[in-house]
Amino acid sequence: MSARILVVDDVPANVKLLEARLSAEYFDVMTASNGTEALAICHRAECDIILLDVMMPDMDGYEVCRRLKSDPATHHIPVVMVTALDSPADRNRGLEAGADDFLTKPVSDVVLIARVRSLTRLKMMTDELRMRAITSLEIGMQAPERSAVADTGKGGRILLVDDRQSSYERLATILAAEHTIDVEPNPTEALFHAAEGNYDLLIVSLDLNNFDGLRLCSQARSLERTRHVPILAIADPENSTRLLRGLEIGVNDYLLRPIDKTELLARARTQIRRRRYTDHLRDNVQNSIEMAITDALTGLHNRRYMESHLATLAEQASTRGKPLALMILDIDFFKSINDNYGHDAGDDVLREFAVRVRKSIRGIDLACRYGGEEFVIVMPETDLHVAGMVAERLRRSIAGEPFAIHKGAKRIEVTISIGLTTLERKGEAVADVLKRADTALYRAKHDGRNRVVSQAA
Ligand code: GH3
Ligand code: MG
Ligand code: MG
Repeated sequence: MSARILVVDDVPANVKLLEARLSAEYFDVMTASNGTEALAICHRAECDIILLDVMMPDMDGYEVCRRLKSDPATHHIPVVMVTALDSPADRNRGLEAGADDFLTKPVSDVVLIARVRSLTRLKMMTDELRMRAITSLEIGMQAPERSAVADTGKGGRILLVDDRQSSYERLATILAAEHTIDVEPNPTEALFHAAEGNYDLLIVSLDLNNFDGLRLCSQARSLERTRHVPILAIADPENSTRLLRGLEIGVNDYLLRPIDKTELLARARTQIRRRRYTDHLRDNVQNSIEMAITDALTGLHNRRYMESHLATLAEQASTRGKPLALMILDIDFFKSINDNYGHDAGDDVLREFAVRVRKSIRGIDLACRYGGEEFVIVMPETDLHVAGMVAERLRRSIAGEPFAIHKGAKRIEVTISIGLTTLERKGEAVADVLKRADTALYRAKHDGRNRVVSQAA
């Protein structure tokens, strides 16, 4: 996992030092000696993470960070402030500017590499999501960057796992000013609680009695329901080496006791903002995937999806020696429904048809809209005899109950014809199976419609 790190510092010796350490760990290092240059590099999307000196002439690090974070084009690049100043007030200025993390000069090697690695992981994941989400932009979904830049990070749902009463009471009071907070003092219940609660952030104490907080963090990382929930660890200073271990296993950020109120709030906001942004990206990707394979009118799979998936199903059936049934369904005299009642009535019929199809098939069956009023259903592990019964049941479910049109003001009779076949011989081309089903359908039409015709291979 090689990432491109941009080191920004006005003192050449500082740049050289960080460059040498990062290069030794095989990171690609780029450098800039002032804010303007750094912004230009980020705009050209040439770096993955930026290590930013705070005190620089002209534009200081806070200002560079603010500009990066308020611009949709660069807002997703993690920023680490590198500073000689280490008072809570200095850290808070950086967090307010949107910084993702801090390193204090002189920078410790272990901390530097641990932070850069963990931010690299985050950046890679965000890039992957951003790349896929671009497609959804092209089909008109909202850019997640826009809401992310405006998000205050407040109003999150937080689960605090801490078994020391004096500690959790204080933390909960601070956090309650901006978020909804639940406290779980029992670490053995925490994972379950986290998985059930739909949280935006987990805050985990690493100083629990008789329980390893890091174990909880790593379990949360591997559990599907909590995998993407950010984790903020809290530890006593003597436990700080374990924090590094935590960063390696996926803890996103940490705080050392005694906890500074403003810093706790700022770090919680940063994590929550990031969580919402990646969630939004992930939703966009999910939506665009669904849109790409779904027919918008009926909600069934579209032809493109069916054609690629059918090949997979046919291959599976052949290698496992299982039957595979396929039917083509075509609505009878559909053109006259359009002609007599209007195109909208035709659409109503198609939608209701899809609802009835879904009710009649199993979850593993694949139903898709193949053309205008033509549908294909593929049924794994189903022989011609059983498929014939399913087809007949489907035919009856259409013909047996009139379809509502004109918002329920009218009901009309609809029938379908079905051509049915199975994949028999090993390695038979999918196109041949479709062709055979189509021939059977043609016969069903020819023989008077509203019927099922089966054609063995
Ligand atoms: P047959 O019994 O032989 O199948 O006759 P048919 O009228 O159903 O077949 P034909 O292929 O002549 O007509 C299909 C019609 O379906 C023509 C087309 O305008 C209509 N159609 C295709 N897609 C849609 C759609 O999305 N909505 C509506 N309302 N009509 C559609
Ligand atoms: Mg038709
Ligand atoms: Mg047709």
